[in-house]
This record gives sequence, structure tokens and C-alpha cells, in this order.
Amino acid sequence: MKRDDLLDLNDVLQHPGRELAVDISTELPEEVDIDLLKPLEGYLEAVSTGNILLITGSFSTRAVLECARCCGPLEVDIDFELDEQFPVEGTPSSLNPQESAKVVSDEPFPLFEANSLVVEQLLRQALHLALPMQSLCSFGWEGECPVAASRSAELPLSNIGHPEFNKLTNLLRPEDPDR
Ligand SMILES: [Zn+2]
Repeated sequence: MKRDDLLDLNDVLQHPGRELAVDISTELPEEVDIDLLKPLEGYLEAVSTGNILLITGSFSTRAVLECARCCGPLEVDIDFELDEQFPVEGTPSSLNPQESAKVVSDEPFPLFEANSLVVEQLLRQALHLALPMQSLCSFGWEGECPVAASRSAELPLSNIGHPEFNKLTNLLRPEDPDR
């Protein structure tokens, strides 16, 4: 299957020292956990030393996260650098036309298909790592966050975080005890 997010690095792998640089803009259509407000944009550079494929780059976007305290929406700028290394096996064909070099990747999710980089997979991994551990709206932990205040007023303590259980309780309770 031909994928349009594959970046063919075979030329780079067969010619150590040859650099490839590409500008990338993607909305990461397969990303379901992170709500992007604008495309992820940046550049990516690839070069092989012969034994190692180096991939570097710089990306930025803006996303909607949840405030860790009040769960309110929070717009956050996200920037990250790429600096990845992957082992390369075999002899580049530029040195010996009978042979060819191949990138080796032992990631849990395949980052390569043959010598092509699955760009969006790499970017999604990097984006997840770049997310702040705990983002807070401007009220922080101490301030009087109006959203947090109204949530705790609305919901009984035991149901905080699980409003869907309210419906379940209603389902389980017989409407008419005589029936
Ligand atoms: Zn908040």
C-alpha cells in the first residue's frame, strides 16, 4: 500500500553524507488523542553516516489540552526538536553496487517501511513526548478557578470524574417497585 506520509530515505541510505531536508506540514489525521488547533509544521533533515541514520528537525503546533485541575480547555503552544538515530545495516550501494544499506528499527510501532520513514508515526511519538506533564489554566492550583468551583458544586463528591455513572444508577433503580 502506498502511503502519502512515507518519506523515501533510500537515496540518503545508499549515499552516506548526502543530506535530505524537507518541510512538513500535517494535521496528523491519525492522531485521536490530541486536538490540534493548527497543522504541525516544521522541517526534517536526514543523513546517514554509513552505520547510523540521523534524523533531526524542529516542529511546532498549537493544541487544546485539558486543565489538570478543572478539566477546562486549555490552548497550549507546543514546540519540539527531533534528534533520532537508527542503526543501518549493509553496505551502501554507492560503495558496492551489488549491495544495499537498510535501516533497522526496533520500535514498538514500526517507524520504517523498508527504507521509507513513516513520518507521521515519528511525529506523533515526538508530539506526545513534548506535551506538558500537567497543564493548568491561568488559575493554577491555588487560584479560584470558576470552572473548578462550579464543577464541584454541581456534582456530588463521589461522582466527580464519572458523571456517566449517574445515568447507570438510574437504570439500575426500578422505576416502579410493584412491577
Ligand atoms: Zn483550571
